[in-house]
Amino acid sequence: AVAGGPAEWNGAGTTSDGHLVKVLGNVGKPADARAAAEAGAEGVGLFRTEFCYLDAADEPSVADQRAAYAAVLTPFAGKPVVVRTLDAGADKPLAFLSPEDEPNPALGVRGLRVAFDRPEVLDRQLEAIAGAAQDSGAEVSVMAPMVATAEEAAWFAERVRAAGIARAGVMIEIPAAALSAGEILDAVDFVSLGTNDLAQYTFAADRQLGAVAALNDPWQPALLRLIKLVGDAAKATGKPAGVCGEAAADPLLARVLTGLGVTSLSMNAPAVRAVGASLAAVTLAQCEALAEAVLATGDAKAARAVARG
Ligand code: PEP
Ligand code: MG
Repeated sequence: AVAGGPAEWNGAGTTSDGHLVKVLGNVGKPADARAAAEAGAEGVGLFRTEFCYLDAADEPSVADQRAAYAAVLTPFAGKPVVVRTLDAGADKPLAFLSPEDEPNPALGVRGLRVAFDRPEVLDRQLEAIAGAAQDSGAEVSVMAPMVATAEEAAWFAERVRAAGIARAGVMIEIPAAALSAGEILDAVDFVSLGTNDLAQYTFAADRQLGAVAALNDPWQPALLRLIKLVGDAAKATGKPAGVCGEAAADPLLARVLTGLGVTSLSMNAPAVRAVGASLAAVTLAQCEALAEAVLATGDAKAARAVARG
């Protein structure tokens, strides 16, 4: 629990003075979606579709994908859900998508990059997502992982709209994308910061390697400065910028992220209430002052100390 936070949360993501910050769930399986809905999540900010296929040897059919996605979306009928297209990568290899023998898989053909060579795989997934949206009644948006440039974002948005899905977004998890947030937001409807990968690529520190975990700390001021660039671009364009990495699950950091201009926070179910309660205990101006103080520090330890007050 965070000092000053109420024990209870009324289930609406907002600061004490009414600034809206959606508190959303991260899900991969139907059980996660049910847990997120029970925890009070207002929707889903990240549906990791690759979690449905970690054991699949071949690409699932459109009908199978549609049924698998609908099973996850159903608890959120009438609510917003962001479905992420397949993110095969070093940490989540998919037998039917991941290239073999890359010397540096984290820097290789992963996420949206796979779709440039095999757009038909993306188009089939988009068809299945559009069908699952109809079947479930969820308000579905789609976003792409591992986007580096505004050109890639525009390419993806065009395919999403061609599939009849109204809202297209991309993840900001490569520093180049954070530095191009304004141009990217011109091409899409929203962005979502993947702070796990954004930290890994900003600090050149493998997220799976315990020896460099201190560099992957989401309180690192350099990471927060990149997030501020994205928050500023969101304000300038009037479009949403969420966070769906682990950073969003820290109730105190949630206040800092809100102060940096982030408009939604998506996390695993157990964190939902504590984050909602933490935001409800402070004003937007307090969040902004906190963010400014934290950005002025030189390291993660000092940033935490400043935020704890
Ligand atoms: C992230 O990188 O922060 C993220 C949310 O995506 P994943 O953890 O699935 O790579
Ligand atoms: Mg990621």
